[in-house]
Amino acid sequence: KQQDLLKMENSAVTVAVRVRPFSAREKAEKSSQVIFMNGQETVVQHPESKQSYSFTYDFSFCSVDASDSNFACQQTVYETLAKPLLLRAFEGFNTCLFAYGQTGSGKSYTMMGFEEEVGVIPKFCHELFSKLASIKSEVKCHVEMSYFEVYNEKIHDLLVTREEPNQRTMPLRVREHPVHGPYVAELSGWLELGNKQRATAATGMNDKSSRSHSVFTLVMTQTKTELVEGEEHDHSITSRINLIDLAGSERCHSAQTSGDRLREGASINKSLLTLGKVISALSEQALTKKKVFIPYRDSVLTWLLKESLGGNSKTAMIATLSPAGSNVEESLSTLRYAQQAR
Ligand code: ADP
Repeated sequence: KQQDLLKMENSAVTVAVRVRPFSAREKAEKSSQVIFMNGQETVVQHPESKQSYSFTYDFSFCSVDASDSNFACQQTVYETLAKPLLLRAFEGFNTCLFAYGQTGSGKSYTMMGFEEEVGVIPKFCHELFSKLASIKSEVKCHVEMSYFEVYNEKIHDLLVTREEPNQRTMPLRVREHPVHGPYVAELSGWLELGNKQRATAATGMNDKSSRSHSVFTLVMTQTKTELVEGEEHDHSITSRINLIDLAGSERCHSAQTSGDRLREGASINKSLLTLGKVISALSEQALTKKKVFIPYRDSVLTWLLKESLGGNSKTAMIATLSPAGSNVEESLSTLRYAQQAR
């Protein structure tokens, strides 16, 4: 445990896990709770073997019920995990936040949320623009957003519609003292469009959204004009912020049939495995201060994020879990994945 904690302090990657409340179905099946959290520790009590497995992360968030000492609502998850990334972005770091877990475990609830339970992405955008609005007037800011989906090792732009395939979104520009409301509204509009496009594709294709990775990116450039010996010099820092909802991790190891499903399973497998390898190589590099080979090129997802992972960047991962005994094997595999990421 001591070693775990030491490793965490030096790690380039912050890892959190979050267990959601029981679903109606799990309740109806009278499935028992097998995941328990205490401080940084997450413990799994296997319902059959009765064996218990213990893991330590930077944060263990419990959302099973509000009386739990580790209870974390949307705001707590945002404040602890995402807000530090926002602050780093303003300092010029690139940042990535990944949500990993089986389908139905709470990835999109955590990242996007809904109505009054808004998730990380809308909160992040809101706070970014309110920070921009309060920034000193000699700093000019420029923000661009993009929203992609990676499916079968191919990249699709979620902001291009089928009706108007040539009308790519205009980059979002914010200059000097922006009034923050309109920009957030504009950005929410694009976000909504992207989500709708992801969902539209899903209904036509048997829940495709759980089989693709969605990558929401903000590129923020802060430019400061300085007077050096009577001449104006522009000094810019650019930060890329990536907020990623990964494909359902169950595809990573469930028995595949053939044809399209097989190919699809194989590409999800490849990208999740490569991501795991990249993140653990980055952690190792940070820990040992020695150059380690990082296999960015082994999947489209890691290739797309190459610039934002490693080097001058901060990465966080949130692994989401079902509390139920019926999902214990998936949960254990998620917890192991999250552990090797550090
Ligand atoms: P995924 O994106 O991993 O497939 P979802 O985010 O769609 O899973 O979550 C499945 C269901 O569980 C949704 O109805 C969601 O609202 C609910 N849910 C997930 N996590 C939480 C949580 N922490 N608190 C309350 N409800 C949650």
